[in-house]
Amino acid sequence: MENVIEVTGLSKQYKAQMAVDNVSFTVKRGSIVGLIGPNGAGKTTIMKMLGGLVYPSAGEIKIFGESTESGLCKARSRMCFIIEAPYIRDDFTAEENVEKLRLQKGIPGKERVKEVLAKVGLENTGKKQAKQFSLGMKQRLGIAMSLLSKPEIMVLDEPINGLDPQGIVEIRNLLLKLSREEHVTILISSHILSELGIICSDYLFINKGQIIKDVSAEDLTLECRQYIHLHTDNDELAGTILTGKMGLTGVDFSEKDYIRIYDMLDDVKLLSKTLYENGVIPTELFIKQISLEKYYMDMVGETYVEYN
Ligand code: ATP
Repeated sequence: MENVIEVTGLSKQYKAQMAVDNVSFTVKRGSIVGLIGPNGAGKTTIMKMLGGLVYPSAGEIKIFGESTESGLCKARSRMCFIIEAPYIRDDFTAEENVEKLRLQKGIPGKERVKEVLAKVGLENTGKKQAKQFSLGMKQRLGIAMSLLSKPEIMVLDEPINGLDPQGIVEIRNLLLKLSREEHVTILISSHILSELGIICSDYLFINKGQIIKDVSAEDLTLECRQYIHLHTDNDELAGTILTGKMGLTGVDFSEKDYIRIYDMLDDVKLLSKTLYENGVIPTELFIKQISLEKYYMDMVGETYVEYN
């Protein structure tokens, strides 16, 4: 798939602070990319630079292959950005809000208003004014408004932030629908990985202005898969038995205090017996799985308490 966004060595410096520090990434057409990082990591600044709202201190932005000022301007007209709260008039209904924007933008065809409202599930809100909407409904109205111009790429800054669980599910389902049915490419930020659920095809983890991991959803799931946690009275000998005598290939020795084994999950008894018979006593042996949230917290260096 073609890259619709290519960012190379992008930085933004505010006085002494590097808000975004030499960031490079690509976004493929049709993907849903989650930009994940704690507060102040630089997510909004990256999105603002993509949207031309903040001027980069260094680096290059290429959108639809365009990197010149005028080229980027053209490219941005094929995108939509919801970075701060969408501009919604509280005393207008959903339909009036969308219609007002349609007229402002000179988009032909009044039927388009009902069409975009139906896409976000707000077609039956009738005379209800936006001030009576839940936060989730307002977010969906903002998305409906941005759909008016049929964007090919949507850039959404924390659209899930502050929503209740139902609102979160609604936005997630809506984004999946837009991706599948309208083939919209989506770049979405969040500071809580689990809130994005399983909708993203790729993840960019950011901390202190830098991309600390760029991983596909598939690889992320693989890294978080189940394993056997093994600690013995002689881990060195245990390692030799596992990889030599037993011929296991899925053994990871990168942790200091224990060994991770991705094989033999269905026969822990045999594993333990073989080790014992070869003079190694397992002192810790259990099946474990890292939750996505723990994986993320480990990466950004935050303490995470797992409640089992
Ligand atoms: P949040 O989730 O809190 O919005 P974020 O990941 O979007 O965080 P940014 O808003 O991009 O982070 O901010 C990155 C850093 O740059 C922060 O430390 C912030 O204080 C700083 N920053 C952002 N905008 C400005 C500005 N206009 N002037 C000075 N510093 C700024």
